[in-house]
Amino acid sequence: MVGFYSSLLSSEWLVPGRNLFLTIHVLGIVCFAYIVAKRVVPLVRAQGDPRFDHPWTRLGRVLKFWLGQWKHPRYKFAGTIHILIFAGFILLAARAFSVLIVGVSENFVMPGLSGRTGYIYNLVTDYASTVVFLCMVVAGVRRLVFKPARYAVPAKYGKSHTPDAVFLLGLIAILMVADSLFAASNVAGHAQRGQPAEALATLSLPWMLQILIGSMPLATLWVLNVTAYLVHELTFYFLLCYRPFGIQFHVETSLFSIYFAKLERGRLKPVRWNVPDEHLDLVKSFGVKTFEDFTWKHMLDFYSCADCGRCADNCPANAAGRPLAPRFLTIKARDYAFRHYPVLGRANNGKPLIGNIYSEDEIWSCTTCGACEEECPLLVEYIDKIVDLRRGMIDDGNVPQSLQKPLKALESRGNPYGRMEKKRADWANAAEFQRSCSVKIFDGKSSAGILYFVDSITSYDDRMQSIGRSTSRILTHIGGGFGILGAAERDSGHEVRRFGEEMLFMALRDHNTDAIKASGVQRIVTADPHAYNALKHDYKDVPPVEHISQVIAREVKGGNIRFHRVENEDNVYTYHDPCYLGRHNRIYEDPRAVLDAIPGLKRVEMKRSRDRSFCCGGGGLMLFYEPKEEQRMGVLRVRMAAEAGANVIVTACPFCLVNIEDAIKVAGLEGEMSATDLTELVDQHLTREGCPEKAKELETTTCGG
Ligand code: SF4
Ligand code: SF4
Repeated sequence: MVGFYSSLLSSEWLVPGRNLFLTIHVLGIVCFAYIVAKRVVPLVRAQGDPRFDHPWTRLGRVLKFWLGQWKHPRYKFAGTIHILIFAGFILLAARAFSVLIVGVSENFVMPGLSGRTGYIYNLVTDYASTVVFLCMVVAGVRRLVFKPARYAVPAKYGKSHTPDAVFLLGLIAILMVADSLFAASNVAGHAQRGQPAEALATLSLPWMLQILIGSMPLATLWVLNVTAYLVHELTFYFLLCYRPFGIQFHVETSLFSIYFAKLERGRLKPVRWNVPDEHLDLVKSFGVKTFEDFTWKHMLDFYSCADCGRCADNCPANAAGRPLAPRFLTIKARDYAFRHYPVLGRANNGKPLIGNIYSEDEIWSCTTCGACEEECPLLVEYIDKIVDLRRGMIDDGNVPQSLQKPLKALESRGNPYGRMEKKRADWANAAEFQRSCSVKIFDGKSSAGILYFVDSITSYDDRMQSIGRSTSRILTHIGGGFGILGAAERDSGHEVRRFGEEMLFMALRDHNTDAIKASGVQRIVTADPHAYNALKHDYKDVPPVEHISQVIAREVKGGNIRFHRVENEDNVYTYHDPCYLGRHNRIYEDPRAVLDAIPGLKRVEMKRSRDRSFCCGGGGLMLFYEPKEEQRMGVLRVRMAAEAGANVIVTACPFCLVNIEDAIKVAGLEGEMSATDLTELVDQHLTREGCPEKAKELETTTCGG
């Protein structure tokens, strides 16, 4: 194809082709480098974030989530389109580069792509450009005609993003057509000159264009060839320089965003990285108040969001009509960065984010359920940012009215209800319960192998105390001895921390840690996923912790727990995954295995289950918060259970049980639908006949004994 490339170089567009093309290359690259350098400025001013550990793990995640597009098929149609476009881009990268270079160096061949390999590569990329072009058409029609709801921009969040999206789709389509026309005119030109011409892939876009233009005069083909080249080059550099102004910047940043993504679930970022707890009082300002208080990785997230709307589509707060849609937390921050760190002109930073781009209600509306992070194909993080924004508000004394009392009670009494510490173990003293079981309270002298960490809601809420009693009976049945901390236990502080009260959390954590250490236990068991998550991820130096569902599942598997037939065979059960057991800790199968071990129990799955579970409304302090919302999350969840055909919702979290039982009443489904905790169901169906030694043990010893 040398002949036609030569004429490309010698073409005249006021200046010789080579000079013109070279000038465009240089200008395009310089502009792009300048724009990217300006985009990096806020990242340089941002807070530190140590994300350079575990390089191999991070590389593996790049292969899985970036190159492997792992999360995209969660939305089948859009995901398939994205995978095709992404694969097309990857394949076409070398071809696009080669086309750009031949404008200034006619004999250029990409290393490794000469001879037969080059021939095959050209055929494959003929199809790749065709597929990308078709995907652009399909995506454009989808955006303009079918208008998927998740792309909509409510008026309160600004203007529709569709025109920009369609403009970008159009530019990429032009790029594909220009690339194909360049190849087609080359082949047609060579054929007319009787020179050997490359084969084009049958039925590909270049192949069809070549048929269309093949009989045109040589001079016309030359004009088409040079025009196609110029359009390709200009569109390429325009796209390159335009992308950092909007959502398409993710093409450049997503690889880095995924490489540096958070590796551990359930764990919160500290107030300041590299500032130990004992030096926190030296930190002048807590949390995020201005844009520059975000970490560089969180800013990178803002650039990397592709505006796909999957996070908001799965956010229960958004579904319930709360003033929060995670997608817009990112888009607003990105727009703020573009406004305050302009490409032309000086940066002007330092404005408070709350009241400027975010509202207080928006930030308090989050239940930290993690659905947004689970869904995001680019691993954009939300919970750490939201908690950091809350830390900033708390630091400024900006505490929602409804949370002030429980927070004070937590400070003075160690529980949000303001109840006396000495009453914490009263649930275990109920006369009826004590007839079959008495629970040992660690006193610092005696010891047992297992600590049952009860936490506040199960200790003080009359209804939830049933979970405490069932858990105790189950642990007694299993044997081995267990006890509770009683008055020495304080709230785990899980929600306190997620509401931004770091110092109060630290006080609760330190108190509990001392009490746990003094008890001398080797293991901790809890029936509260929030306590489980706190002890596992927020506490240091405490013995390993398990959720009761893990313990029961293991005992069922080992034959130590057996069940009698389900009491009401007409019931249809469904399991609701608590966020802090499921998404945050990946415990999906154990509770289901326990349910399935109860003979005759009919179980159905809700559409949204396991990692797509729908938050019940949130736990801990969220129970006290009065959000602005159109409907209750719990009510939405109860309706999902009814849609699945269930009439009993089983969960494994006291907070879920509170919310769901309440929602059943609000939804007017009392009598038709009920809710229960896994421990209650297990306790109810546990049979001791199959384990005579356990029965004997229960007869001769007390619970926890
Ligand atoms: S954590 Fe849950 S409630 Fe919060 S923004 Fe994400 S999806 Fe919404
Ligand atoms: S944060 Fe992730 S899921 Fe949400 S819109 Fe952006 S890319 Fe999509």
